[in-house]
Amino acid sequence: MCKILLVGTGFTSAITTSLLRKMCQKHIYLVIWDKARGAGGRMSTIRNPSDSSCTADLGAQYITSSQENYRDHREIYESLIQGKQLEPLCSKIEGMKDLPLGTQQFVAPHGMNSLVKHFLQDADEIHFGHYVVSIYKCGKQWVVESKSGVKGMFDIVILTMPVPQVLDLQGSIQEIMSKDQEMKRNLQSVKFSSRYALCLFFDSNYKFNTGWDSKYIYDDKIFRYVSFENRKRNMPASPLAAVFHTSIQYGANNADRELNDVQNELVDHVKEMFPDWPEPEYTKCHWWQYSQVMTPYMGQPGCLTIAEHPLLVAGGDSFMSSHIDGCISSAFTLTNKVSQAIKAYKV
Ligand code: FAD
Repeated sequence: MCKILLVGTGFTSAITTSLLRKMCQKHIYLVIWDKARGAGGRMSTIRNPSDSSCTADLGAQYITSSQENYRDHREIYESLIQGKQLEPLCSKIEGMKDLPLGTQQFVAPHGMNSLVKHFLQDADEIHFGHYVVSIYKCGKQWVVESKSGVKGMFDIVILTMPVPQVLDLQGSIQEIMSKDQEMKRNLQSVKFSSRYALCLFFDSNYKFNTGWDSKYIYDDKIFRYVSFENRKRNMPASPLAAVFHTSIQYGANNADRELNDVQNELVDHVKEMFPDWPEPEYTKCHWWQYSQVMTPYMGQPGCLTIAEHPLLVAGGDSFMSSHIDGCISSAFTLTNKVSQAIKAYKV
């Protein structure tokens, strides 16, 4: 039995878990650690505390898949469509750029994190609140330690967090990078945008007459995107939440501010833009320090082998591009790499 640790419960980790389970069946024991309190990573979905039927996506909003990507990743999409986790996007998104012929778009009726949870079922153990701080080589295994002092020994470790968070890890990984300056430079060259998300949960009785369900905003100093979550998900009668994303420029200019301070500014700005809207029942502001990849790892290889023996490998959208198909492509390359190591392990 090969014991594998996946760090992260985002979409890349979930797909990798599912592919590894299919490929290796009972020869592997899959453990997942995440620093967060729940699954999803940047595909996170929150609930209105006073109405759990009302949810909103704080990160990824919907799926856009080119004809080619859809064809290559058909088995993943079909699994989600059959499980009723994905539906065609039917709502009106104002300001969306024209898409090439054959592109398909989907929404997640139960929230984007339901896509992640669908595939995480193939894990043997999932532990939240496990913030990985160091990884040390110990003979033929890796010793992984969390901030709270939990330690585990694993035959293979798969990292799926954004690359800047990989660079923060202590232990053997720092030694490896000091010996391989090219790898270090390539990792350091991966760049992410940052932005804030603001979610407003409203009283379900209020009728909003906007003429759009979601909208890209090109002429505002703060916001770049807004969406009515229920309408986006083809559920116009459900309780209402509006999600705003700030522009990358606003994210960069306001990176070091107190979250409460930013939340107040964003709420005031919504009032200026939409003076008729009622007071929200509940408001949540979230800082995406690592939002979307602006400069991916050179050559977009899908994954990077940090050490061969024992295997330490990193994947995720940092190694492809920031959308679902980028994560799926990365998960396929991770799975190929890891399954080769598992064969060697069995020998
Ligand atoms: P992540 O989701 O970031 O998962 C990494 C996980 O690792 C996280 O759960 C994190 O908590 C955990 N982690 C990090 N460090 C540690 C540590 N030291 N120890 C333990 N755990 C750790 N994509 C689309 O396809 N469509 C969209 O509409 C879209 N819109 C977006 C809007 C926003 C605002 C954002 C932020 C992203 C958007 N994306 C969109 C991009 C998409 O969300 C990402 O590409 C995708 O979710 C990345 O998944 P991942 O698993 O690679 O990484």
